Amino acid sequence: MIPLQEQGWQSQPWQWQLSHAVRDSETLLTALDLPASSTKSDFPVLVPWPYLAAMTPGDPNDPLLRQVLPVDEEQVVVNGYGPDPLDEHDKTPVKGVLHKYHGRILVIATGVCAVHCRYCFRRHFPYDDFRVSRTDWQNIAGYVRSQPDIREVILSGGDPLVANDQLLSWVAQQFASIPHVDTLRLHTRLPVVIPQRVCLELLDWIGESRLKIVVVIHANHGNEITDDVADAMHHLHQTGATLLNQSVLLKNINDRADLLTDLSWRLFHAGVLPYYLHLLDPVEGAHHFDVPESDGRDLVQEMSQRLPGYLVPKLVREKPGAGAKESISLTTN
Ligand SMILES: *Cc1c(COP(=O)(O)O)cnc(C)c1O
Ligand code: SF4
Repeated sequence: MIPLQEQGWQSQPWQWQLSHAVRDSETLLTALDLPASSTKSDFPVLVPWPYLAAMTPGDPNDPLLRQVLPVDEEQVVVNGYGPDPLDEHDKTPVKGVLHKYHGRILVIATGVCAVHCRYCFRRHFPYDDFRVSRTDWQNIAGYVRSQPDIREVILSGGDPLVANDQLLSWVAQQFASIPHVDTLRLHTRLPVVIPQRVCLELLDWIGESRLKIVVVIHANHGNEITDDVADAMHHLHQTGATLLNQSVLLKNINDRADLLTDLSWRLFHAGVLPYYLHLLDPVEGAHHFDVPESDGRDLVQEMSQRLPGYLVPKLVREKPGAGAKESISLTTN
């Protein structure tokens, strides 16, 4: 199913996986033995080969394919769905920093991702070329140093693991030299779509850092936890890092209690605990993925009947301008 020129991709390093990812629907659909599609989009296709290889050939409803294939429903305009649902544009004390949470700051390390998820609220951000430079990192570290209540630095994006380990290890050292910083957290989907990203260099700096490292991956369906992904997670776990997962509740992808339960078990076997289950942000072009809040509540309720408490994610939603996510109570009153 993989075209001839891409054979042998499994053994290629992550940098190759990033630069050789599939960038058009035609290649994607051909590789899966599916008929061509004519849908056009400003948010281009981006799918690395390891993620593609976890899809089932011939199945147009494959839950991984649906997350990355542009469809015509994206063009439908729906009231209440906008380009910047979280209103994140003006909370930036230093370039790259969002300081909207207490005790922790979020650094948008890069606008680049390893995969383009159709439901993502970042699909409309104009920061494709955005990258925090070394000077910016020094300014950010200076800001953190001046704010003694900041105990955790969260690297997000885009995907912070798109950066190389030489830079990331230097960045970790900058923050490790600030006494009041305890934790460095990485929000990344990269190990799920390119498990090769968990390479020796990454494991080295994570294992050596004085900081407590938390890695929050992003998987939405059990099929994303392939053997390679599970191996990668085991290696990360051995460094002493805390591993968590966040998912987005997506219509016709994971909106069933049995699927979410299976995801929790697969994560757990890979050393990862479920953390958040997000309700979709009302982002333009993604309304067809929306699952009503009441269904989300029922699903999590059902999960808590089937699973040990530590495998039940917390149902949340982002609230524009708020200092934390809104956690959704399972009991209606
Ligand atoms: C929710 C969220 C945070 C803040 O995280 P908490 O887990 O609530 O501390 C930071 N970054 C991203 C990308 C988030 O979604
Ligand atoms: S930010 Fe995360 S969810 Fe959005 S496109 Fe990138 S990897 Fe996907």
